[in-house]
Amino acid sequence: MKLILLGAPGAGKGTVAKLLTKIDGSPQISTGDILRGAVAAGTELGKQAQAAMKAGDLVSDDLIMGIMEQRLQEDDCKAGYLLDGFPRTIPQAEALKKLLNKMGEKLDAAVEIDVARDVILDRLTTRRTCTGCGEIYNVKSNPPAVEGVCDKCGASVVQRDDETEEAISNRLNVYNDQTAPLVGFYKEEGLLLSVKATSSQSVIDAIQAKIG
Ligand code: ADP
Ligand code: ZN
Repeated sequence: MKLILLGAPGAGKGTVAKLLTKIDGSPQISTGDILRGAVAAGTELGKQAQAAMKAGDLVSDDLIMGIMEQRLQEDDCKAGYLLDGFPRTIPQAEALKKLLNKMGEKLDAAVEIDVARDVILDRLTTRRTCTGCGEIYNVKSNPPAVEGVCDKCGASVVQRDDETEEAISNRLNVYNDQTAPLVGFYKEEGLLLSVKATSSQSVIDAIQAKIG
């Protein structure tokens, strides 16, 4: 399936994408993961993205479109993809629309994962991420077996640079200002599926009910 996952930071886009990958085989494409990989590897892309990411601001549309134009044309995207964290601005959504037209492809849906703000705040401050494989933990509800060590790959599990209280509050404001308008954009496109998420499974169920 070809899906966009929309939702505030901490809404569960990554978790839903990972579950769908297991069901459907389509790759999860997370611009955040791609950028964090580039920062960790110290590439030119990483150097250009680093400061904005640390502050919780968005990386430039041009940089993101450069990454995504390439990524969407790779072989594993032929049958589908789960876009997690992209597009994030109206210009990115417009550019994606053009790109897909050019490639002769159509999205199945843009899924808005709707979660209350207090749930999100609590989640983000307690979230921890593996520096090796990107696995997500939560200090309260889902800690690794050994504190600070990933169950899956053994690398260290840390609080992300942009998960300080200040950066989190900035990321939520950036979401409201720049990304929330995409809900209206995809509604007009006739692609919007809005789900009040009581669990990640509830989101999966709604997606399967709509597109099978
Ligand atoms: P979140 O948990 O906020 O959904 P992500 O892992 O998706 O976080 O993104 C982390 C950071 O990477 C963002 O705060 C932003 O700086 C940058 N980023 C990721 N995707 C995009 C995008 N599509 N456009 C601009 N910046 C992006
Ligand atoms: Zn790991």
